Amino acid sequence: MFKDIPVDVGLVHAGERIRKTDMYVELGGPDIEEKFELVRVRALNQVTDGLINIIGPDISAMEAGNKYPLGILVEIAGKDLEEDIEGVIERRIHEYTNYIEGFMHLNQRYDIWTRVCKKAFNRRFTSLRFVGMVLERLLKSELPMIERIQITFYTDAEKISPVYIEARSAYEARDARARGLTDDDVDVFYGCALCQSFAPSHVCMITPQRYANCGAISWLDGRAAARIDPKGPIFAIEKGECLDTEKGEFAGINESAKKRSLGEVNRIYLYSAFAFPHTSCGCFEGIAFYIPEVDGFGIVMRGYSAITVNGLPFSAMADSTGGGRQVDGFHGISLEYMRSPKFMIADGGYSRVAWMPSDLKEQMKECIPVTLFDKIATELDVKTVSELRDFLMSGSHPVVERWETEEEESMSGEDKVRPAAVQVFAGGDFPITTGGFKIILKNARIYADRVIVQTIKPKDMRKGE
Ligand code: SF4
Repeated sequence: MFKDIPVDVGLVHAGERIRKTDMYVELGGPDIEEKFELVRVRALNQVTDGLINIIGPDISAMEAGNKYPLGILVEIAGKDLEEDIEGVIERRIHEYTNYIEGFMHLNQRYDIWTRVCKKAFNRRFTSLRFVGMVLERLLKSELPMIERIQITFYTDAEKISPVYIEARSAYEARDARARGLTDDDVDVFYGCALCQSFAPSHVCMITPQRYANCGAISWLDGRAAARIDPKGPIFAIEKGECLDTEKGEFAGINESAKKRSLGEVNRIYLYSAFAFPHTSCGCFEGIAFYIPEVDGFGIVMRGYSAITVNGLPFSAMADSTGGGRQVDGFHGISLEYMRSPKFMIADGGYSRVAWMPSDLKEQMKECIPVTLFDKIATELDVKTVSELRDFLMSGSHPVVERWETEEEESMSGEDKVRPAAVQVFAGGDFPITTGGFKIILKNARIYADRVIVQTIKPKDMRKGE
């Protein structure tokens, strides 16, 4: 696409993953604490059009196989540009940098994770300047109201700190602006299909009380995006008739999901993780996961690298949750949605949350009802599901009442159908060592990463293998 850039640039490369063995260097990512991408609208005289700065080592000066900090500050100016568009343009960084062959960009805001592959480096993709050139050209051609643009990359661990702090407070100010409105106050919701190159059936449904999964697009951002680029990936959705107030089912949302997912997703409950949960692409900030043993939820955010209470790390659950599917009991969420009064309200909201990492619990303190705060376990309290059960019981967590109701129902012979949930089993998880059992999985959906078909050789058959 661009003759002065040594690798190809185009939609065909979106969604390309670079594995560790193929990577030349990593910038940002889970091992680097301070990383960010930020767009700021400035006055015309504050922006030098086309200027690209690199503060810290460029790719050519980096050691192969190493990890480095990364800050991307994009400053734009134009007489029709307003501050409320910053978040929307910022999300395009993910889209456009992914067009670059041999460059991977994941996540958003303070969570970015990028890699340059060895092949691209060997083809002279040795400077972040090329990433800047792609961003500058695509942003200006797609959004003509950007008259001037300058981009600064930070890779120096010390110099990134003050700008990282500025970025965090800019995100917070943006999110705070979007708080206060309710879903009942508006007639129009917004949809975002930006991640369809990664998850073709996924559309984020963005309402005042259900922030986008990636945490980067609020309802106000959606409104601004649809206004400046009506044919772009963010679009308005007429809310239509409310079909279920508690679960958050709207005729307009269902219709739009059906159309945009080409019939894959026909119904969505905005405020529930069961039956027809919101789909998840792969950019979600966190996951709410059902723990069948306690009939409650665990919550884990992307930055949590330890094993969660159900024995799985975030990465394993992310694989089961993402891809644009509706997975009963597994739900991609953003931090801002956790602040919403509608947060999984149909499932019980915080009174159904049984476990979360201690730092997240502290961060969400103001949103968790005071009476529940001490009843929710963290990794400091329990390590396994059976310890969790004991913890919840001793603290009289509200989910315990659900167990009692279930027991009463089973004593009275009622055939209770529990919500189906995804559970990942390893062979050793089944404590069954003799025959004579039948396992019936009711309402189960089974997903497989690979299906291997092998012919059985006559020799093996003779051995009974
Ligand atoms: S996660 Fe959702 S809102 Fe965020 S960019 Fe992807 S589709 Fe859009």
